[in-house]
Amino acid sequence: MTYRGPNLTCFGPWSKKPHLPTGTSRLLFHRYPTSTHMSRNPDVVIVGAGPYGLSIAAHLRFHGVNVRIIGAPLSLWRDHMPEGMFLKSDGFASNLSDPQSHFTLKHYCSQAGIPYHDLEIPVRLSTFLDYGDAFQQANVPNLENDEVSAVTQESSGFRVQLRTGEQIPTPRVVIATGISNFSYTPPVLERLASDRISHSFAHGNVDRFRAKDVVIVGGGASAMDLAALLQERGARVRVLVRAETVRFIEPRDSAGRSVMQRLRHPDSGVGPSLQGWFYSNYPQVFFRFPREVRLGIVRRFLGPAAGWTVKDRVLGKIPIVTGAHIARAAERNGCVYLEISRGDRGLEEIAAEHVISNGLPGQLEALAISQRRHSLSAPYVRRFARALRQFPILGFRSVFRRACRGK
Ligand SMILES: Cc1cc2nc3c(=O)[nH]c(=O)nc-3n(C[C@H](O)[C@H](O)[C@H](O)COP(=O)(O)OP(=O)(O)OC[C@H]3O[C@@H](n4cnc5c(N)ncnc54)[C@H](O)[C@@H]3O)c2cc1C
Repeated sequence: MTYRGPNLTCFGPWSKKPHLPTGTSRLLFHRYPTSTHMSRNPDVVIVGAGPYGLSIAAHLRFHGVNVRIIGAPLSLWRDHMPEGMFLKSDGFASNLSDPQSHFTLKHYCSQAGIPYHDLEIPVRLSTFLDYGDAFQQANVPNLENDEVSAVTQESSGFRVQLRTGEQIPTPRVVIATGISNFSYTPPVLERLASDRISHSFAHGNVDRFRAKDVVIVGGGASAMDLAALLQERGARVRVLVRAETVRFIEPRDSAGRSVMQRLRHPDSGVGPSLQGWFYSNYPQVFFRFPREVRLGIVRRFLGPAAGWTVKDRVLGKIPIVTGAHIARAAERNGCVYLEISRGDRGLEEIAAEHVISNGLPGQLEALAISQRRHSLSAPYVRRFARALRQFPILGFRSVFRRACRGK
């Protein structure tokens, strides 16, 4: 998660440079504005305080832009990831972005006395959260821990409404709300009662599943992290995976690699490979590829894989049913019965007290990637608007449609 540019949806006249104090050179402006004053008419409102919201706020504040940022800091990480998880990204690829690249995870760990290595020490979720909090306090002290309930467009810009009722007029809005509102449950499971089915997004803490039979659907990182945690907290877990095998990322052995291996498979934020190195170091070039080429690469590149730290906690300890397609799901006597089709291996029935699904709709996986564009294009907005119509949240939809017409 090394940010080289904003991965954000921005509305407003961004072609106009943000106002810098008169006579201030960006290069000479070496201090952060310290004001935590909440302006009634900010130049920019950022919605969401995840890694992207915090990073863009740090950059804007550094340049003297009058910015308000609304959101619970790192709430996806704090409340919706399995407790005790290790990050899948390496240490060097888990930085938030500040304008001078000073406030890295490495720097934080050295100050806090936490063992750190760019590649070889996995990053604990708790360390990342502490780092995020320290980053926020140092770089974005004006964060408002509130929620935005609507964004409406007006002739002079936008009006952002907070849950507390406050209305903030502003010429520019940055939507940095991530994709956590888009959790996906396969249609075959949708009819199960709400206490029988949930999404992994709902479970940071899993204590309520102690001594329960739980089936996890999915073979990616969050499915495996959750499976390990559930099993260790006393649940009886099984994992159903559509693919024929489950992939785990191999641990990094930077010292043991020859020069030739390093040249052929250079380290990158998304794993050691030439392709990964190119995509993570030259995203601007990648974004110039035709859309279909770009999305094709995204579909083929990487794919679901669990982190190496979870491998020993899962393999040989938790039953994993591969090549499994859920044909039917029904409830009887307080249990869920899943009819599993396994190709030539025929049908199987699996019973559980609770089923946990994972993942995003395929459509949104593509969107998440195309969101990495630096500016909006009309087709992108249209697709996002369609997706938002399926998952109505907040009052953003009208904004997307209008922005779409305006392009
Ligand atoms: C289980 C799991 C493990 C992961 N592991 C890694 C990893 O190891 N390394 C890595 O690089 N990435 C990892 N990721 C991906 C990572 O979480 C995302 O890429 C990253 O969080 C995206 O940052 P963001 O700021 O765009 O969105 P988010 O982190 O989702 O932040 C968006 C914020 O906006 C807030 N928000 C939403 N709506 C509103 C509103 N109306 N008003 C105010 N605030 C709002 C949300 O509460 C949230 O805090 C993982 C994801 C999951 C689910």
